[in-house]
Amino acid sequence: MSRKLIIAANWKMNKGPSETGDFLKTFLAKIAPLTSNCEVVVAPPFVSLPIASELLANSNVELAAQNVSQFDSGAYTGEVNVVMLKELYVRHVILGHSERRSIYGETDAVINGKIKKAREANLRPIFCIGETLEEREAGKLEEVLRRQVRGGLDGVSEKDLLDCVLAYEPVWAIGTGVTASPEQAQEAHAFVRSLLAELYGKTVSEKIRIQYGGSVKAGNAAELMGQPDIDGALVGGASLEPQSFLDLIQNGVAG
Ligand code: PEP
Repeated sequence: MSRKLIIAANWKMNKGPSETGDFLKTFLAKIAPLTSNCEVVVAPPFVSLPIASELLANSNVELAAQNVSQFDSGAYTGEVNVVMLKELYVRHVILGHSERRSIYGETDAVINGKIKKAREANLRPIFCIGETLEEREAGKLEEVLRRQVRGGLDGVSEKDLLDCVLAYEPVWAIGTGVTASPEQAQEAHAFVRSLLAELYGKTVSEKIRIQYGGSVKAGNAAELMGQPDIDGALVGGASLEPQSFLDLIQNGVAG
């Protein structure tokens, strides 16, 4: 089964509109040749979505948001809904990121609500899962991944799952400079795919792309993305400079 790579930049709380504009002008001048073998996605902060949307129109780079509300509209101070994102031609939304889980207390049930709301509006979730170091060392890797996958996808139809990407991001590897070894990452990805097979059947599970996230950079991208069940990357730190993100994509595509 060949799955097209998908590499996404998660800028987190970095780059307001002017920095976003500067980054994208440089990036777009060089990215085109790499996009035939790889879907490339950029997720700026909410306030930078309008300028990003304008600059990415008619390009091969897709726009993502870093979060969305599980509610429709109304008295939810500080929140942004799916309709607002659609108006800006946002295509993907990162959901379940470990920072949303640990800092903002998002539970599997909340994430499940967001995934369903995103799909109602035809937004494509990038659904993040992953264990903490404590959980891994306690031998709970599979238990945690099973709970997150089952909880996040509860009631999500096969049709909607096919428009989701999963991102396996071991929490201990995010922003730490410590990367899971290609073998550790492959093992977790194969397990996640087996969970999808349990829920949706083997044929569907083999169509779903699973990104790896956690200190991916140009130097390790080829080896990670060369693994059979790793179908791309979700990238924080190494996506903040155009050239470092371009090098990472180039090496990932070669992997
Ligand atoms: C992330 O935020 O999803 C991430 C993987 O960050 P970093 O690449 O900096 O580890």
